[in-house]
Amino acid sequence: MAKILIPTALRQFTGQHDAVEVTAGTVSEALHALTEKFPDVRKNLFSDQGKLRSFVNVYVNDEDIRYLEKDATKLKGDDTLSIVPSIAGGSTSVADAEEVALSNEEVMRYSRHLILPEVGMGGQLKLKKAKIILIGAGGLGAPLGLYLAAVGVGRVGIVDFDVVDVSNLQRQVIHGTGDLGRKKLDSAADKMQDINPHLQIDKYDVALTSENALEILSDYDIVIDGTDNFPTRYLVNDACVLLKKPNIYGSIYRFEGQATVFAYEDGPCYRCLYPEPPPPGLVPSCAEGGVLGILPGMIGIIQATEAVKIILGEGTTLKGRLLLYDAMNMAFRELKLRRDTACPVCGDHPTVTKLIDYQAFCGIHPPATAAPVAASADVIDPVDVKKKLDRGDDFVLVDVREPYEDQICRIPGGKLIPLGELPKHLNELDRNAYIVAYCRSGARSHKAVNLLKQNGFKNVRNMTGGILAWSDKVDPTVPKY
Ligand code: ZN
Repeated sequence: MAKILIPTALRQFTGQHDAVEVTAGTVSEALHALTEKFPDVRKNLFSDQGKLRSFVNVYVNDEDIRYLEKDATKLKGDDTLSIVPSIAGGSTSVADAEEVALSNEEVMRYSRHLILPEVGMGGQLKLKKAKIILIGAGGLGAPLGLYLAAVGVGRVGIVDFDVVDVSNLQRQVIHGTGDLGRKKLDSAADKMQDINPHLQIDKYDVALTSENALEILSDYDIVIDGTDNFPTRYLVNDACVLLKKPNIYGSIYRFEGQATVFAYEDGPCYRCLYPEPPPPGLVPSCAEGGVLGILPGMIGIIQATEAVKIILGEGTTLKGRLLLYDAMNMAFRELKLRRDTACPVCGDHPTVTKLIDYQAFCGIHPPATAAPVAASADVIDPVDVKKKLDRGDDFVLVDVREPYEDQICRIPGGKLIPLGELPKHLNELDRNAYIVAYCRSGARSHKAVNLLKQNGFKNVRNMTGGILAWSDKVDPTVPKY
């Protein structure tokens, strides 16, 4: 006699029996014996052609027989058959552990995983049950989104409120030229859904804030930080420590990247590594400092790999190790990280027990409360600069950008003195001259104006909006970058 365990969903067809005993020599005979006893169950198990339906998996004892001899599998005396109907991918309610199964299409899709002993059916089901939240659908989010979809993670949440800009396409490979102007959320979700229709995607069209972070992140098993600013990085860190969720960290700058896993098990958090953020402006963002297009691909894929390993419970994660990647020299190094027992968030006596104002923590003040030395009178519109040039007025135009930016575009007649070198060149400028400073967007030239005024220059103006505004208002042939 073989015993067939009936899943809850099918018990309505078996007189509410949860187990049925049948006499059979093979799995096929056992299932047919079941349908003879309970004819109503037949249409749920077999197609009209008599084939076992693709969404029904049968296990003999603990073995999934699809990888054995299928329904011709021989039965021994007291074998137990389990019928496990699959849950279609993309279901809105994530099924319980024992209810998750793969359809035949998914079995084929993940076949290269299923033959890996470290993944196998058990691991693939873990991936399908996994819920990951991705903060950002940009440079790091692009490879993360593509691969998390491809490998079969069941549910991915994405937090992003940005739109696709042409300057993103050099590295954010989840978006295409046809996506320009679309929400990154929609563009990324379409691409991921195309790669894997079984994936459930949750879209959060918001900025992650102290008000919404705990609620959004609490639904997921793993948090992946793909952001590029310090306030969000500290916010994600603190939220992960408070929620006890692993935070897979990655960061990129020019040709270098970092990756590690924070707040995982007994490991350190981001604040153990960097207790205080750098002062605003000290560490340039990718928009200011540039980034090699391939770099986020490398770091994002390392993050995705760590996520998959944590889900599978296989291998050694980057917990307690900061991986440093140098693309220019193609070198990897790693540094040991230890949890700081005095860490204000994850230490033995934490002082940060709820989320705080991370903008203020990072020294970023809203524009209204910022106290610029240069007053509003110290600015000049690009259109007025153009008039002065056309009239041949006597003034000095100082370009405080870097030489490589000057190679991209320039305003004719300007004198190139990068902001960092300006202090050394003050004596080359006439303190009584009328000076107009410009940069890319107006931020660096604002600092230049402050510096010049502090050094006794009387007539200094910041060209508002920089060469970007010049391109908009004066000369559209000047490219924006
Ligand atoms: Zn810590």
